[in-house]
Amino acid sequence: MLKRSISDADVAGKRVLVRVDFNVPMQNGVITDDTRIHAALPTIRDLLDRGAAVILATHLGRPKGKPDPKYSVAPIAARLSELLDRRVETVSSVAGPDAESAAKQLESGQILLLENTRFEPGEETNDPALAAAFARLADIFVNDAFGAAHRTHASTVGVAGLLPSYAGLLLQREEAMLSRLLDNPERPFVAILGGAKVSDKLGVLAHLLRRVDALLLGGGMANTVLLARGHDIGSSLAEPDRVPDARSLVDKARERGVELLLPTDVVVARGLDAEAGAAVSVDEIPRDQSVFDIGPETIKRFCDQIGKAKTIFWNGPMGVFEQPAFAEGTMAVARCVAAARAFTVVGGGDSVAAIEASGIADAIGHISTGGGASLEFLEGRTLPGIAALPDA
Ligand code: ADP
Ligand code: MG
Repeated sequence: MLKRSISDADVAGKRVLVRVDFNVPMQNGVITDDTRIHAALPTIRDLLDRGAAVILATHLGRPKGKPDPKYSVAPIAARLSELLDRRVETVSSVAGPDAESAAKQLESGQILLLENTRFEPGEETNDPALAAAFARLADIFVNDAFGAAHRTHASTVGVAGLLPSYAGLLLQREEAMLSRLLDNPERPFVAILGGAKVSDKLGVLAHLLRRVDALLLGGGMANTVLLARGHDIGSSLAEPDRVPDARSLVDKARERGVELLLPTDVVVARGLDAEAGAAVSVDEIPRDQSVFDIGPETIKRFCDQIGKAKTIFWNGPMGVFEQPAFAEGTMAVARCVAAARAFTVVGGGDSVAAIEASGIADAIGHISTGGGASLEFLEGRTLPGIAALPDA
């Protein structure tokens, strides 16, 4: 059931509080990737075009409930102003009298960005007093922060209970696209899972196992599964305490008739600083070396399977793609996913970075902006930020 969205709201002349996810990566006060700001522009533009006054709220980093200039949203206001080619007002508080008077002064078509919501101790505890202070700023609440939808905070859940509330266009799109993977996906449905740790992905693996036709595992997480299958993985990253979980995953896949593809060859090296790795069979991993990527034969097997898919979900790189010597597995799989005639979804912070680096982002059906939130959604869990909004 999709949620009521801003397309259903009459916003002309109204003050609209929009919770966005502008939690962008920053280095020394400079935004290094503004994807998340771009992702919220359709909602912001739509509201402004229809005559609303827009008040934006976001968190940034982890300032632990008190003001910290390091986590001020000032650089975001500047970037947003450039992107929209409009003035963006700011205020030095999150809610309360100053924020209220700044919000009251806004006219139709104007924008105000509140300070970092996590400067308030009541944000992460979903304090009713803070939620009420947010509600006093506006007539309508819009949640467009899909990346924060798995959190029960005052600016995501609390305030939604106090104002007429709607889903933003980004949140609505995320919900629709991810739902397409869970409800009646076109078959064959192939899921590609990788990344560092199998423990991070056990929930999503268990849920997807009931829906997919094939499961392709790479990255560090596959090492634990190889370990469970009795392979010697040298000094590779693995989670030996998760071997029982990995074993039960293998058993469940067999019971359900899900094709489980593990690496049959891998790229190994003594350390991450190696200039190049060597491709070896998974039966010949040297004791003193680590697996840092999938090998060419595995790439081919994975790509054959990807080529047959009608629905693809990908989360987690196939190797340490940050190092050029170990990026080929991830880049090759990205090219195969891009070439597939399938509905494709990519989720996860590092996976999205890998897709951007591979230059094939345009060929992907949906790139999810929510790392943790998209995984929780695909685990079949109800996200509190979405649940707090009325159905369409
Ligand atoms: P995502 O953010 O897309 O969910 P993860 O955070 O789970 O992905 O994993 C990404 C990280 O996994 C990357 O930093 C990558 O270097 C690391 N990784 C992938 N394969 C390996 C491997 N074989 N050994 C060690 N680290 C790996
Ligand atoms: Mg990550």
